[in-house]
Amino acid sequence: PRPSRFNGQNGLVNGQQDGSSKTSLKPSSIALQAQRKSLPIAKGRQALIDEINKHDITVLLGETGSGKTTQIPQYLLESGLAGTGIIAVTQPRKVAATSLAERVAAERGTLVGKLVGYSVRFDERVGPDTRIKYMTDGMIVRELLSDRLLSNYSVVIVDEAHERTLRTDLLMASLKRIQRERNSPTDLKGKSSANRLNPLKIIIMSATLDAEKFSTFYENAKIIYIKGRQHPVKIFHTAQGQQDYGDSAMRTFFQIHTDRPPGDVLIFLPEDIESLQKSIQVFAKRLPQDKMEVLICPMYAAQAPIENAKVFHPTPPRTRKCILATNIAETSLTIPGVKYVIDTGKCKEKRYLTRDTGGGFDALLTTDITKSSAMQRAGRAGREGTGFCFRLYTEEAYSKMELSTQPEILRCSLVSSLLQLKCLGEDLDELELMDKPDDIAIISAYKSLWLLDAINKNKEITPLGHEMAHFPLEPAYARAVIASKEYGCTSEVLDIISILSSSSKLFLDISEQREAAAEARLKFKHSSGDHLTILNVVRAYHDISQSEAKAARKDWCRKHFLNERTLLEANNIREQLRRVCSRLHIDYNTTCRDDEQPIIRSIAHGLVQNSAFIQPDGSYKQSMAQSLVKIHPSSSLCDKKVEAIIYDELIYTNQIYARGVSSIHKSFFATLGTLIQRQA
Ligand code: ADP
Ligand code: MG
Repeated sequence: PRPSRFNGQNGLVNGQQDGSSKTSLKPSSIALQAQRKSLPIAKGRQALIDEINKHDITVLLGETGSGKTTQIPQYLLESGLAGTGIIAVTQPRKVAATSLAERVAAERGTLVGKLVGYSVRFDERVGPDTRIKYMTDGMIVRELLSDRLLSNYSVVIVDEAHERTLRTDLLMASLKRIQRERNSPTDLKGKSSANRLNPLKIIIMSATLDAEKFSTFYENAKIIYIKGRQHPVKIFHTAQGQQDYGDSAMRTFFQIHTDRPPGDVLIFLPEDIESLQKSIQVFAKRLPQDKMEVLICPMYAAQAPIENAKVFHPTPPRTRKCILATNIAETSLTIPGVKYVIDTGKCKEKRYLTRDTGGGFDALLTTDITKSSAMQRAGRAGREGTGFCFRLYTEEAYSKMELSTQPEILRCSLVSSLLQLKCLGEDLDELELMDKPDDIAIISAYKSLWLLDAINKNKEITPLGHEMAHFPLEPAYARAVIASKEYGCTSEVLDIISILSSSSKLFLDISEQREAAAEARLKFKHSSGDHLTILNVVRAYHDISQSEAKAARKDWCRKHFLNERTLLEANNIREQLRRVCSRLHIDYNTTCRDDEQPIIRSIAHGLVQNSAFIQPDGSYKQSMAQSLVKIHPSSSLCDKKVEAIIYDELIYTNQIYARGVSSIHKSFFATLGTLIQRQA
């Protein structure tokens, strides 16, 4: 490796003092300091600092819970290794970024937004004093758009690199370029601004044993192993495959609760956390009085950070905590007190659907996890003592699982990334990636951008494409917002897009109460379909919010089986989108009142690729692919026949269903010229 430029001579080591450590500590932070010192990583603190100091790039491998994510940034700060710049710690998931920032801020005895901050899509808490910034990989890639050398950062820690998300891969590629430009002083003729920048340190952190690949990618970077603490975990498999993982998880939970000694339970689910939460709550109420109480702690992005923080609070006496989480609890967050793990064997995975199977975009699919995930999940039970893992799948199913997950870049839509790269004046083909996506995926991304008018025939970015990149939205939805300017309905389109962009569903789905839910929501139903139905809900909620107190609002949502968190999150998202609109001189107040066509047409500009035309047999034929789709039973259009539809997504079960559907006149597509025909 090249000689490091982070050394005492630069005045960096031991030079910078962390201001917050000088203030006197509260008793609570004294306890936290003791906890910090007892972490497995603490013993190797100095050795780690020395290694990181010596190398521009380090690959750090350590068992989950050893202290990598919370401690390394603090070590860098305390030792002065970070110079005067900011330390970025990237996370694939929003919830991890916010919770980790909360935790580390508490360890420093300050509030989030001071020394320690976070930045995730639609939410940011950073200030002028922020030196450690937990952020999603998506946010740092977005920052590249305005600062292609990431000049505010002195260290970038790419955490959870083993997950190989699309953004992480793009970041790792860009970091290579940035380090080349910032750290080599010799070939900088003509790059005077870069010349004055601090060098950049890169740390790649992973929880699984795949360090070699990262090291090779970064010219044989130094690999450091950190040992964790792991107790034995007894693993059980089911005798038969399970049909309904939710139901099965619930029954397993109550078996543990009635038969086994105290210890918290962690359930891994692909989705529908809220539905299972409701079901467990209902049953827990029926338990005999002498049983331990059940405290349910769901963990997901749409929940306020303060709610998510509750999983870390000590379990009250005579209580068993039941934590419901997605992949987030696999390696990103270690929750203390867990003795039992219930593993449904499923996760949600983004997958790019080709034209043959779907139509050239991502769908979120519930899929089987990999062996590597199954092992991580089981491991969560053995952090503090012997643990138990109940797998809701057979041993045979386990043996047939894939070893580890394929990198997202090989299975996800590249549209959004390509748009961002285009704005940077870069291209997917030229980027030095760990794994290259195949040509079909790249061509399809170009096509999508072209259909959205973001690039021209020569693959050059258009002014519209630049505008689209300003929105922290899927390009399709960004296109819809921009189209709404012309149609004079930005207010309505923002209402709808904000709901579609939030991290949880608007309509709660509780299996026992499906009919009651449909009945209660009847009054929102709009004859044109689901987009306007969403708008009706948003408007009704807005009216209630004007006149009613918080409790009444909550009650109203419960009665209509609506997820209030989605509505609240959407309010926040809309605020942010309004700010972007202002910057782009789009008046976000323009409204078309009750005229539905402009709204649907605006959205259709974004969803041109997600369109289908009716066939004689009543099914719909995709405009961009050959397959037939049906309207999802949950749609307000499901028992209607209309000449053409647009939809938010396709769902694959035994059939292909379109979900989030609106009816549109076929003539709309004629106005788009021959675009669709050329595609089909
Ligand atoms: P790693 O990154 O190596 O998996 P972390 O740095 O995330 O480890 O976690 C180190 C320890 O800090 C874990 O034992 C975990 O339980 C604890 N921890 C992390 N976040 C919190 C929190 N919000 N509240 C309480 N403990 C936490
Ligand atoms: Mg970690």
